[in-house]
Parts: sequence; C-alpha cells; structure tokens
Amino acid sequence: KLEEDANGVDSASSRISFQNESKWDDHSSYGAKKTQQAWCRLSNGNWALGKVLSTSGSESVLSTSEGKVLKVSTESLLPANPEILNGVDDLMQLSYLHEPSVLYNLQYRYDQDIIYTKAGPVLVAINPFKKVRLYGNDFIEGYKRQKMDKPHVYAIADAAIREMKRDEVNQSIIISGESGAGKTETAKIAMQYLASLGGGSGIEYEILQTNPILEAFGNAKTARNNNSSRFGKLIEIHFGATGRISGAAIQTCKIKQFSSSVLNLLYCTSFGGNILISVLFPPHLNCMMGLCLNEQFYWRNQELYNVQMVNDRTIFFISFVLVHPEKLNLRKAEFYKYLNQSSCRSIAGVDDSEMFFAVMEAMNVVHISKEDQDTVFAMLAAVLWLGNISFKVIDNENHITVVSDEGAQTVAKLLGCTFDSLNMALSTRKMTVRNEKIVQKLTLEQAMDTRDALAKSIYASLFEWIVEQINMSLGAGKRRTGRSISILDIYGFESFTRNSFEQFCINYANERLQQHFNRHLFKLEQEEYIEDGIDWAKVDFEDNQDCLNLFEKKPLGLLSLLDEESTFPNATDLTFATKLKQHLDSNPCFKGERGKAFTVSHYAGEVMYNTTGFLEKNRDLLHVDLIQLLASCTCNLPQIFAAKMLVQSDDYPSGPARLSGADSQKLSVATKFKGQLFQLMQRLESTTPHFIRCIKPNSLQQPGIYGQELVLSQLKCCGVLEVVRISRSGYPTRMTHQKFARRYGFLLLESVASQDPLSVSVAILQQFNILPDMYQIGYTKLFFRTGQIGLLEDTRNRT
Ligand code: ATP
Ligand code: MG
Repeated sequence: KLEEDANGVDSASSRISFQNESKWDDHSSYGAKKTQQAWCRLSNGNWALGKVLSTSGSESVLSTSEGKVLKVSTESLLPANPEILNGVDDLMQLSYLHEPSVLYNLQYRYDQDIIYTKAGPVLVAINPFKKVRLYGNDFIEGYKRQKMDKPHVYAIADAAIREMKRDEVNQSIIISGESGAGKTETAKIAMQYLASLGGGSGIEYEILQTNPILEAFGNAKTARNNNSSRFGKLIEIHFGATGRISGAAIQTCKIKQFSSSVLNLLYCTSFGGNILISVLFPPHLNCMMGLCLNEQFYWRNQELYNVQMVNDRTIFFISFVLVHPEKLNLRKAEFYKYLNQSSCRSIAGVDDSEMFFAVMEAMNVVHISKEDQDTVFAMLAAVLWLGNISFKVIDNENHITVVSDEGAQTVAKLLGCTFDSLNMALSTRKMTVRNEKIVQKLTLEQAMDTRDALAKSIYASLFEWIVEQINMSLGAGKRRTGRSISILDIYGFESFTRNSFEQFCINYANERLQQHFNRHLFKLEQEEYIEDGIDWAKVDFEDNQDCLNLFEKKPLGLLSLLDEESTFPNATDLTFATKLKQHLDSNPCFKGERGKAFTVSHYAGEVMYNTTGFLEKNRDLLHVDLIQLLASCTCNLPQIFAAKMLVQSDDYPSGPARLSGADSQKLSVATKFKGQLFQLMQRLESTTPHFIRCIKPNSLQQPGIYGQELVLSQLKCCGVLEVVRISRSGYPTRMTHQKFARRYGFLLLESVASQDPLSVSVAILQQFNILPDMYQIGYTKLFFRTGQIGLLEDTRNRT
C-alpha cells in the first residue's frame, strides 16, 4: 500500500527550512540507494526514518519505522547514520550531520533520560522537567574518581577543577539557554559538584545557601518558567592553595540589570504601566506571605499591546513571613493595588511555607542579622503600601497632592520619614532652569509614575543590598591568592514577535558572548590537530565582528546613536528610528523598517526591534527628589539606598536635566550596561571557558515531550551546530591507532608484517582505498573526515 505524503512528492524537499543552508553539510548529491536508511520530512514538519524500498530517478519509495510507505522525491532524502552511531555521546561522531540526525540523536538519548550530550566541546543539556537519577554523591564520586565519563555537568565541573589545578589558570563555566531551559538548575548542579570539594568552616554550605535567597528575591513565575530568574548571575568560587574552597563572590544583574533590577524598573516606567504585585496568602498559614511583583504593560490608551511580554515575564515571586504584622500593617493580598491586578496567587507544587523557611534559614546562614531581616520585610511592606498611595487633584491643571490616608501614613512610618516630605517628593519636582531653582508641581500622571519609580527603586536597591550582604559573608572583598572557577548563568538570545529595548540589550550581550565562544572553540579545535602533529592549515573562523561593530561603533553605531538621541529633549522613538535608518542603512547587519522599527542580523538570526520606549528606557529616570527623600529617612536601609544612588548619579545633581550635556552618556542605561558587559567579558577572558547550552524540549514545562522544531531553533540560535559543523569540516572523527586496528583489523585480506596498531591501521586504510585527503595520521590518533567511518562500518557490518 502506497501512502502519499499529504503534501505530495515535492513537499519533503521544499519544507526543509534551514535558516542558513550553509550551516549544514551539503547532501544534495546523496543518491539514496535501495535498502539504505534515509530521513524524509513529513507534512507535519517532523522527520521520519525509513528504509528505501526503491528509487527510480527523481522518486523514491520509503518504508518508515512506523510501517508507513511514502513516495518522496529522491533529492529530498537525507542519509541516515549507521545504527552503531545511534545515541552517540558526542554529535561530532555523527557521520552525517544534518537536521534530522542531530535531532534524532538528542531525542534517542532524551527518551532514556540521558539529558546530556556533547556537541564537540560544548555540553548540551536538555531539561527533563522531572527528577532524573543522574545526581547525588554516588555520581559525584564517580566523576571525581573518573570512573564515570559520560557527558554530564559534573564532568564539566570536574574538567574545570582539573584544568585549574593543572594549568594554574582560572576557569569559567558559561551556561546559556532560553527561559526555562534549565540554566539556574544547571548552575546549581555545577555548584554542588564544586562544593563537594569542601572548604572548611562551612563556606561551601554558605555558597549553596545563596541560591534560595537570590531566587526568593530575584525570581518570578512567568508563562515560560515557574521559577524564572530575573537577573543574570556570575558566581566566582575561590580556591585556596590546598585546592579547597576559600570563599566566593557574586555579581548579579550584570547582564539584566536594565530589565530586571528586580522590579523590572524599565519595563514598568517606560510602558507607563503599573507595577502589579500579587501577594499570596496561603490559607493554611496566616503568617505567610508571598509577594508576586507582576508587571503588565499598558499603553496609556489602555491597549494592552505587549501580550507576549505580559505572559512572558509576569510575576515576581517572593515569600516572606509577617514577622511583626502589626508593625508592617499588612493586609490581605487583594487589598494592595500592586497585587490585586494579578490573578496568580499560588504556584502548583510550590509550598510557600517551606520556601519561606528555607529562605529564612539561608539568610541566617549568610549572616544577615535578625534586625536587618526585619528591615528587609519593612521595605517590602513599604513597596506594597506605596502602591496604595492615592492622589487628590487640587487645581484645574491636574496638579495633585498625596492623600493622607493609611497608605501614605504607613509608607512614611515604614521608611522613617514624615508625611510632608513624602508628599513633597511625590507631588513636586525641583528643577534648575536657566540657573534658577524652581519647584514644578506634578500632574496626576507624573505623580503616579514617580510613586511607581520610588517603589521600584526601593525594591531594586533592596536586592542589591542583599547581594552585598551575601558577598560580605562569603568574603568576596578579601584579597585572593588562589584560583577561581566562575559560573555564569546568563540570559540567552531572545527573539519575540515584538522586541524592545530589553531584547536589544540581551541580544547585544549575547553577541559579545558568542564572540567569546567562537574564539575559544575554534581555537581549541585547531589546537588538537596541531598537538597531534597533523598537517593543518589554520582556518580563520567567521566571526560576528560586523554585528558588534554595528552596536559599538562611535559615533555611528546603535548604542552611540541611542545615547545621542536620548539627550535630545524633543527626540521621540520615531526620530530615533529615522536617525538609525539615515546613518546605518549601508551596514550589512542593519535593515531599516517602516515606522519605529529596524532589523539587526544577529549571529542567531534576524531580529526586528521596535523603538517604542527605547529613549525613555535608556534614560535613567529616578529623580533626585526621590533620592533626597530616601536620604532623609530615619530607617537605615533607605539611607543606604540613597547614598548608593547619589554616588551613581554624582555628576548629575540637577535631576532629569542630567541627561543633557557632554557627559550624559555616562548615565544612559545602555552605556552602563555596555560597561558592565565589558567588565564581565574581561573577567571571562582571562579564564578557560567551559560551555553548557541548556535546551528546553517543550514549552509546557512537562517531562517526556520533545518538540523537534523547538529544539532545533534553540540549537541554531546558540551556534552550537555551527561549532559542530566547523569542527567536523576538519577531521571530526578521531580514533586512537589501537582502537582502529582492533575494530577493523579483521577485515584485512593480507596479514601485516608488523602487528603494531599504526601499521595495521595504515594497511586498513590502503586496502579500502581511503583517499589520502580523507584522513590524517596523528601521533596518537587517526583523524577522519565526515562519513569515512560510516563506510568502514558498512563493510564491517556486511562481513
Ligand atoms: P530562566 O531564564 O527563566 O531563569 P532557567 O534556564 O534558569 O530559566 P531553570 O529555572 O533552571 O531555567 O529551570 C526551569 C525548571 O526546569 C526548574 O524549575 C526545574 O523544574 C526544571 N529543571 C531544569 N533543569 C532540571 C534538571 N536537571 N533536572 C530536573 N529538573 C530540571
Ligand atoms: Mg534561571
């Protein structure tokens, strides 16, 4: 029985939609032969493996493993790897590297809960969304004693330790992937392995305990991930001369400060939206409170346009207890404006009380005093109450004053300021106009923005302060003499239907990281050839410098132009977009679009950005009046926050006017971000990197579901396949002389005089007429080009 593929004979070939064909081997000349296994694409986009029953010219008939018989165009068939290569540990070992073979190999392993696979030098980790039996002491010991050698995070961490000791060079483990792919979990698994080396005085335990705190304050439930990190994190673990852990230092927000600053300040300000916070009151525990800071994005005209973002990164999640309910004056969740906009009150499978006590315990472990803990909760309560502050319009110009109700009074009490100073800060703004100081009254809209900005800045400062406390406890500031291993848990490349300033910054950062990735991986690969003494003309890899230039070039790069436009009082998002088009249209990585949009050709694909909100997000909007308010508070934390903010905005004492003038660029968010990025890269540059790429197999956060399209798009985005392909375009298959002689020696027709592995190997190569440019003989290994081992395997299997 012959079933035609729903889309007809031609569909198979036309549906292969590689983003960039050149990333793959060219199999167009592959003529499927009868009885061979081959891949064909089904009408649903998935690939099926089948046996070629017959071929006649342009048409072939294939019987799939599910028992279907398909008629497809011969041209569209892709060669299948020999069965011996099913589920290989390393994608580099595949004789044929193409879309279906890679997907199949990963899936073959994933189906058996083998979630780790090497892609050349990179570890690919597919999120299992369930407990897999791959961790714990037995495994840690196995890798430590090198009894286990399968791809694993432990193996990466172990390699880092070994190389750190052997080469006396600092190491880094760079973890990337999209939201929900498992970066944070992977980072924790790596930390566990490192912690198992021990330290003394419990420092390793302290390091592990930083996770629940940072997650409590910096993570949120989103549509993509119930425990999504809203910040990037670099943790540097220090080792003493004896090889034991001596301390650690954490840098947060380095990459995502602009977007998260934990309350996602920028989203909220620039969208003119409200910060919506949601409090959980688990009915079973009255003294428990979880705080979800939920951002939703409104336009002023009430059009909720950014639906994707609303679903995407909706809710911040924090749990805390009402230590002194009467002091904090806390009410039910529904009472708070920041909270009652969200309907999310709980997360399935998460026990808030358990989480809360874990966080409290962790705060004790990192030596945050009970007193300070109380103040932390007071600040959280102040944030909540701020949202309930309301305004009264006092004239027909829409000017306002703060209503002196419970909300405002409680905020004043919690922060330690008077109602009057709070009212002043929220209803007026001091400005300098032509060297004259004036007090401007705020309109209702401006006042609401100011109030929300204050709430967000308190939350952001609080997060920063907590990180500082942790660092102090971990001895981050101490002078180090030993070596370190850094773990970077960073946000991956993002491409949505609508992309804004946050994606712009994230993708720029990823562009930089990609360059780091390229440099190291292509270099490493070529070093192996040289070490084994094979004849190898060094290949310059194609880098993404053009795209980086598009961002960084001065004065005509994206960042410079953004800063310049941000300083013009009359500039709009539209004039910014127009300016980009004017100056950058000749750049091959740039494409101007209609209206407020432009497209950048990133290494991972094209992304169209919408400039709406760019200028406002790029300016730092926290007004000096608010800083002064915090500085005047009697509570110690607001004072500390204000002191920090003043240092940061030292050069700009005159409020919002600070972005005008020569040194305005210093303060722009994008430029600050670039500075932090450079700092981070510099730090990584001096380390030997180990790369882990996390993959999300489905968007449902469910075990056992492997979405081919989703996996493929992630593999493409991170450039892993590129690395595998380029690595393979050299001599991807390596086998030691011994192994090669053992495996194929019996195929020799004539016995070889010398039985040493090298002579046997050479004899095999000659007997099979393997062309000289298809292999190279190194000191210890044979290096083969793609597909050569497949040929030998075929013969071996037939014999
Ligand atoms: P984000 O960018 O949003 O922070 P992420 O990449 O850090 O996302 P994680 O929070 O690490 O994602 O993982 C999401 C969820 O996936 C975890 O809460 C956990 O349920 C599951 N998960 C990830 N890795 C593993 C693993 N190795 N074993 C079991 N479950 C895992
Ligand atoms: Mg995370």
